[in-house]
Amino acid sequence: MTTKQTPSTLQKMGLDTPMALALHLPSRYEDETELLNIEEAIHQGRFSAAQTQGVVIRNQVLFRPRRQMVVTIEDETESLNLRFLNFYPSQQKQMAVGSQIRVRGEVREGFQGPEMVHPTVKAVAAEAPLPTSLTPVYPASAGVSQTILRKAVTQALRDPSLQDSLAEFLPKTLMAELLPSNDWPNLQSAITYLHQPPAEANTQALLERTHPAWRRVQFEELLAQQISLKRAHAIRRERHAPSFVKVTGNEKSIETGLEGALPFKLTSAQNRVWSEIGGDLLKSFPMNRLLQGDVGSGKTVVAALAAARVIDQGYQAAVMAPTEILAEQHYLKMREWFEPLGVQIAWLSGSLKAKEKKLSQDLIESGQAQLIIGTHALIQESVSFAKLGLAVIDEQHRFGVRQRLEIQQRVGSELFYCHQLMMSATPIPRTLAMTYYADLDISVIDELPPGRKPITTKVVKASRRDEVIGGLQSWLSKGFQAYWVCPLIEESEVLQLQTAVESFEQLTQALPGFKVGLIHGRLKAEEKASVMAAFKANEIQLLVATTVIEVGVDVPNAALMVIEHAERFGYAQIHQLRGRVGRGSADSVCILMYAEPLSMAAKERLQTLRETSDGFVIAERDLSLRGPGELLGAKQSGDAMLRFVDLQRDAWLIEIAQQAADRLLQEHTDLVERHLERWLGSRAEFLKA
Ligand code: ADP
Ligand code: MG
Repeated sequence: MTTKQTPSTLQKMGLDTPMALALHLPSRYEDETELLNIEEAIHQGRFSAAQTQGVVIRNQVLFRPRRQMVVTIEDETESLNLRFLNFYPSQQKQMAVGSQIRVRGEVREGFQGPEMVHPTVKAVAAEAPLPTSLTPVYPASAGVSQTILRKAVTQALRDPSLQDSLAEFLPKTLMAELLPSNDWPNLQSAITYLHQPPAEANTQALLERTHPAWRRVQFEELLAQQISLKRAHAIRRERHAPSFVKVTGNEKSIETGLEGALPFKLTSAQNRVWSEIGGDLLKSFPMNRLLQGDVGSGKTVVAALAAARVIDQGYQAAVMAPTEILAEQHYLKMREWFEPLGVQIAWLSGSLKAKEKKLSQDLIESGQAQLIIGTHALIQESVSFAKLGLAVIDEQHRFGVRQRLEIQQRVGSELFYCHQLMMSATPIPRTLAMTYYADLDISVIDELPPGRKPITTKVVKASRRDEVIGGLQSWLSKGFQAYWVCPLIEESEVLQLQTAVESFEQLTQALPGFKVGLIHGRLKAEEKASVMAAFKANEIQLLVATTVIEVGVDVPNAALMVIEHAERFGYAQIHQLRGRVGRGSADSVCILMYAEPLSMAAKERLQTLRETSDGFVIAERDLSLRGPGELLGAKQSGDAMLRFVDLQRDAWLIEIAQQAADRLLQEHTDLVERHLERWLGSRAEFLKA
C-alpha cells in the first residue's frame, strides 16, 4: 500500500479529524507488554497467544503438501518453528537466517515439535524495549492496516486541539450527584485509557465495555442522545396542529355512524388506546404516536375511528401503507365502513394510470376527498392536500427514513402540521420504548379480540413434505382454506419466483379437485388484487404465495399455513405471516417446514416460534439480535446516534442520562449546545429534521 492512498481511506471511514480518531475506540487489545523466553512461550502459548523473541537459525521453503515456509528461531532456552502457509519474498528477507525477530501467536504441536502458525512478526534489535501499554486493535475496513490506524490515532491523541475538544465541562456537582460511582475518569483520561490501557488493566472489563473508562464514554454519548430527543419533543410542542373535539349529539356524525355500524364491540385495550389517541387529537400540537398491537389485534378500526373524528370536523384523513397489497386491504376495509356513511374516499397508488391518478389528485387537492388511502404515492407524487388533519402510517418502519421526512415536509407548512399516527405489529419491548423513544408516545393493544383460537405451530422436516401435503388435502376437504408460503430468497427475486412456481405446479397436481392460486411480487397490482379477491371469495382454496402476503391480508376461513424453508425467515417475518391465520373461529395451524442442516440460530428461532406466539416475547428475542433501530426505523430510534452504548447491556445508564439531560436543559443551557456538538456534530441535524 502506498502512503498516498492512506488519507483518503481514513477519510472514507470518517476519520478525518483528531476528534474522530480519538473516538475511534479499539474493539480489543493484544498484550505485547510481556516477553517470554522461548521455553516459557512454548508452555504459555498453548493456552493463549504468547510473545517471544529469538534469532533465526533456519529458513526453509518446503513443498509438503504444498508450498510453505518454515522458520526456526532459537534463544538460550529453546528453539521454535514458525510455519507460514503463504508468504511474500519480503517476509523471507525479514526472516533470513541470523535476523532477530519478535513473534506473537499461539503454540500447537506440529509434526516437528511445537510451532506457531502465522504468528505476527516484527524485526527487532535484541534489546528493543517492550511497549508499556496494551496494543489496541481497531475496527478497520479494507485497505487500512492496524499499523496505519495506530499511528493516526497516536498522532491525534497528541494533537493540541484535542485538549479543547475533550475538555471537561459537565459540572462537577451534577456529576457527583448523578453518577453511580466516583471512580469514573474524566472524558480525556477515559479516551486515552481506552486507546492505551496499561499492561495491568482489567482486559475483561475493557472487552465487555463495562470498565469505568467505557462507562464514562457511554454516559456522555447517551446524554447527547437524550438531550436531542428531549429537544425534538420540545420542538414538536411548539408546533401547531388543529385540535379535534368529539362531535356529540349529532346523529349524522361519521364517528357515531361508524360506531353504530361496527359488527363487534371494541376490546378494552382498543378502547384504552382510542382514548389515548383521542386525547392527542384534542391538543393543539401534532400527535406523534405509535400504535402497537400484535398481528390481528385490531389496529385498523382504531385508526378508522380517529379518521372519522377528523373528517367530522371538515378535515381530511390519509392512510398510508408500505405495499400496494396492504394499502389495498385498507382501502377495501375502509370503503366497507365509510362509503355507507357518505364519506368520499380517494385511492392513490403508483400503479394507477395517469388519468386515474390525476383524478385522485384533483379530489385530494380540492378537498372533496375526505379519506385518502394509498401507498408511497401519497408522498412521492405531486399531491397536495386541501386540509389534512391526520396521517395514519401503517408499518411505518418499512418506509425509508427519507420518505418519512418527506411526509413531514409535505403535510405541514411552517404554521401547521397534521397529527401522525404510526401503526406497527412489530412490538418494541415496553420498558425500552418508554425510556428510549423520548419523542414518540406509545399506545399498546395488548389483547386480541375475543373468540380467537390460539395458533398451533408445528416444526416439520422438509423430507416429510408428502405427509404435509396429505394433511393439507384433508384440511381442504373440510371446506377450509390454506396458505402455502414460499421461501424468501434474498439473493435472487427470479429464483424466488421460480420456487414459488414450482411449488404451485406441484401442489396443483397433488390436490386435484381444489383450486390452487399463485400470488407473488412480480404480478401487476390488479392481478394481485384479483387473486386475493378470488381467495377471499373461496374461489381459490389454496394460495401459494411469496412473502407479499406478509402483512394485512385478512381471510378468516384460511386457518392453515405452511411455510417452506422456514429456517430462512426471521422472527418477525414468521410471526407476521403466522398472524394471517387464527383470524376466524377455526383451530389454526402453522407448519414450519425446514431443510437441514439447521444453524444453531435457526434451530433456536424455530423452537421459540413453536413455543410462543406472544409477539412481545418474540420481539425481545429479535431485539437482542437486531437492535431497535431496525425494528422502528432509524430516525425514530435515534439508534444511529449510539456507537458505544448497547441498549440491553447498558439499559440502567439510560435513566441516569435522562436525569442528567433534564438538569442540563434546566440549569446549564449554555453547555447543551457544546455537548451536542461534541457528540453528534453534523449528526445533530438528523434528529432535528
Ligand atoms: P391488525 O392489528 O393486525 O391490523 P386488524 O385491524 O386487521 O388487525 O383486525 C383483525 C381482524 O379483527 C379484522 O377482521 C377486524 O375486523 C377484527 N376485529 C378488530 N377488532 C375487533 C373486535 N373488537 N372484536 C372482534 N373482531 C375485531
Ligand atoms: Mg393491520
